[in-house]
Amino acid sequence: MKIAKNTVVTVNYILRDAQGDLIEEGRDPMVYLHGGYENTLPKIEEALEGKSAGFEDTIQVEPEDAFGDYDPNLVKIEPRNRLPTPLEVGMQFEGSPDTDDEDEQPMIFTVTDIADDKVVLDGNHPLAGMALRFTLKVTDVRQATEEEIAHEHVHGPHGHHDQDEDEGEDGDHFRSHPLH
Ligand SMILES: [Zn+2]
Repeated sequence: MKIAKNTVVTVNYILRDAQGDLIEEGRDPMVYLHGGYENTLPKIEEALEGKSAGFEDTIQVEPEDAFGDYDPNLVKIEPRNRLPTPLEVGMQFEGSPDTDDEDEQPMIFTVTDIADDKVVLDGNHPLAGMALRFTLKVTDVRQATEEEIAHEHVHGPHGHHDQDEDEGEDGDHFRSHPLH
C-alpha cells in the first residue's frame, strides 16, 4: 500500500542535527496519520507521500519548517520563589509570554538554568533554531479507520491514547508538541 491521505504510517527514525550529531534515536517507531493532520512535520509527509513499506531516506528540515527560529525574547528570568520546589533544569511549566498580545497562547517554558535565587525559563521549543536531519525507514502502511480520521490521530499501539491526552513519550519532541 502506498502512503496517501488517511493512511497510518509506521516509520523508524533517527534524528540528527545538521552536523550529523545524534539528537534522538527513536526507541519506538513513529506512527502517524498521514494527510496534513499535523501529526508530524509537513516535510516528513512530503518525503513519504506515495512511498511504501521499505522506503528509506534521509531528509534535512530547516528550522522554519520544523520548530522555528530561536527567539531570545522568549527567555525569562524569574525569582526562584515564584516556582515550585523541587526544581531541576529540564523541568517544564506552562505560562504566558510577557507580551501585550492578548491573543497569545499559553506556552511551555523549560528551566534551563538555576542560580541562587533566580531561574532561567526558556519558552523556545528545545529544537528551535536547529536544522534537523531525519533518517526515515517506513515499516508499515495501512488504511486509517474512520474513527482515526474523525479524531485526526492514530489509535492503538504506539498511537494516541484518548485517556491519556497529554505528552508523548520522553524525547518525542517532534510529534508530542503541536506545530505552529
Ligand atoms: Zn482519538
